Amino acid sequence: MTGRLAGRKIVITGAGSGIGREAARQFAREGATLALIDRDEAAAQVTADETGGHVFGLDVTDEAAVETVVARAAEALGGIDGLLNSAGILTMKTVDDIGVEEFRRVVDVNLTGTFLVCQAALPWLRKEPKAAIVNIASAQALLPSLTGSAYAASKAAVMMFSKSIAKELAPAVRVNIICPGATETPMTDQGVAPDDVAGRKALAAVYAMNRLAQPEEIAAGILFLMSDEASAITGVALAIDNGRTFH
Ligand code: NAD
Repeated sequence: MTGRLAGRKIVITGAGSGIGREAARQFAREGATLALIDRDEAAAQVTADETGGHVFGLDVTDEAAVETVVARAAEALGGIDGLLNSAGILTMKTVDDIGVEEFRRVVDVNLTGTFLVCQAALPWLRKEPKAAIVNIASAQALLPSLTGSAYAASKAAVMMFSKSIAKELAPAVRVNIICPGATETPMTDQGVAPDDVAGRKALAAVYAMNRLAQPEEIAAGILFLMSDEASAITGVALAIDNGRTFH
């Protein structure tokens, strides 16, 4: 530990898997105390067994529960000065195939869930000198989709929501965005199975560096934006995408 987040009190959604879990590991290593939120409470507990922290089961689309759980998290941590919204879902359907229920659910979890948790955490964030939010969008917020229009649209909206609140909340709360390319997590496994060798090769080939990212590489960027090293950075979308969005 080098103490880049020493004394910080950070809430993570989607903390039970993939990028959220890896961010929890890196935050804990750097001295933060954590509130770990996931709709899969048992999965968040597995993260907590490794990182320490307070565990909360929550579906981020449940408006009333979000308020209650964020308040309980603030109480457990003694305030909130960092928020990572990593909870998200993927859908792969084309515009011909997706039904309105599935479209609404993707927007609800990825966009409305991010909004609800940000809004609920604001009263605590505003009290803190180092307050920072990091929201996870996607490389597909920046370029037309690999995985279907609903997911890409939800992530583009997460990005612009975040940039907009960065402006509204400055200078009290910094707000930044990470736009990952395909990353080795259960979500990517859902899109292209790990044993689908041809599918994985084709996915990697979308990226200039011809590879997928590891969750550690995404979490390193999240840690940077959450830390004091990024004290002059707000409203920025950082692509960590093995070179997709430059071409
Ligand atoms: P993941 O599926 O491994 O983890 C997502 C976590 O979010 C899970 O633990 C899940 O239970 C939780 N979650 C889902 N819906 C929820 C809800 N309604 N309420 C509370 N928790 C909920 O996925 P990941 O790869 O770690 O993705 C993390 C974020 O990064 C997501 O927002 C995703 O869209 C984004 N992202 C991922 C990739 C990738 O290639 N893996 C690329 C770009 C962006």
